Amino acid sequence: MLQIEDAVRCLQQQMQPITKTQNLPLLTAAGWILAQEGRAMADQPPFPRSPLDGYALRGQDTEAASKEAPVCLQVVGRVYAGEVFPGQIKAGEAVRIMTGAPIPMGADTVVRQEDSDYGQEQVLIYKGSRPYENYCFQGEDYKKDSLLLQKGAKLGGCEIALAASLGMDPVAVYQKPKIAVISTGDELTKPGEKLMPGKIYDSNRYWISGRLAELGILASYSGQCKDEPEEMAECIRRLSEQTDLIITTGGVSVGEKDILHEVIRRLSARQLFWQVNVKPGAPVLAAVLDQTLLICLSGNPFAAAVNFELIVRPVIGYLSRDKSWIPKRKKVRLENDYRKPAGARRFLRGYEEDGKAWVATGNHAAGALSAMAGCNCLIEILPQQAGAVKGDTVWACLL
Ligand code: AMP
Ligand code: MG
Repeated sequence: MLQIEDAVRCLQQQMQPITKTQNLPLLTAAGWILAQEGRAMADQPPFPRSPLDGYALRGQDTEAASKEAPVCLQVVGRVYAGEVFPGQIKAGEAVRIMTGAPIPMGADTVVRQEDSDYGQEQVLIYKGSRPYENYCFQGEDYKKDSLLLQKGAKLGGCEIALAASLGMDPVAVYQKPKIAVISTGDELTKPGEKLMPGKIYDSNRYWISGRLAELGILASYSGQCKDEPEEMAECIRRLSEQTDLIITTGGVSVGEKDILHEVIRRLSARQLFWQVNVKPGAPVLAAVLDQTLLICLSGNPFAAAVNFELIVRPVIGYLSRDKSWIPKRKKVRLENDYRKPAGARRFLRGYEEDGKAWVATGNHAAGALSAMAGCNCLIEILPQQAGAVKGDTVWACLL
């Protein structure tokens, strides 16, 4: 049977990463992928500046200064952050200066105000400062033409601050993939509506749409469909015109109401695969319709969740150019037992902290959702393993 990694590779081969870009106000760009370089147009800081409040002066004038033998200098002006002192400092002179202000020409250091008498016209300096001691050099943060932001960088707080310090606003970002989510099943009822006999509330669409939003993409469509092949085919056909990826849940197994096989036939979509070596969630079905990828997941809530995390997320990562979509794997030490032969690559709900992991207690069935609460990883049990016991080293896929 197809391995998860091969399924992901096969899906990625059908797609190209998004190339369309748009401009966004910098303050709204967190979580987006930068579609331009961020290069310094000027040195930062753009001028030598004072790192503290004090007196800008010539270091050689105060070399011998001490508490007992202060040096007296003429205060010839003052300069605050945002201003420029117009003159040049000469021997025996000082300029009152505040943090962030440009160091006047002629001065090569700043003496802390605490080492002076805070003089206004004249100042007594009690402690010398060597040339360039308290001195922020022009370009000491970065130099003109430095590449600070690579095209393709994900914009977080730090990148946004760097872009701001480069003067970039708005910024060009890659558009996010358009993703539609459809739950199928005659038994499904929308949350908020009255539950009739034989029906259940639809939770899959909420898992997937919720996870998409949590990871940074709002589903462009989220809806529900009956187990009616024509209705479903029509819905997919319509959505495919404006969607990069359609994710469905339910109807992919071998029952009479497992309509997705029929839907794919009716759409004349090109089937890529059906069934992957993953438990739960083996009957994943994938197809391409024109430019749109169709990934149909099992209807069982935990199976759909596992499929989404392991197969859909890396595909979205590729489409969106955002590596954070690719779930991270980590070797962990198991802290409790799970004794059940797998026969397939099995994923268990778990909780991981500091390299230790616990298999969730509660119902492990593919159809059970509640044991997922509080979990932050999927623990992998290999096909040849008859479960796992405390102390075993296993892989965890972080959610
Ligand atoms: P299916 O894959 O359609 O055979 O569904 C497998 C199981 O998952 C059945 O018990 C369904 O009722 C349940 N199920 C299917 N879709 C959903 C959904 N959207 N939300 C919650 N449970 C579902
Ligand atoms: Mg069904």
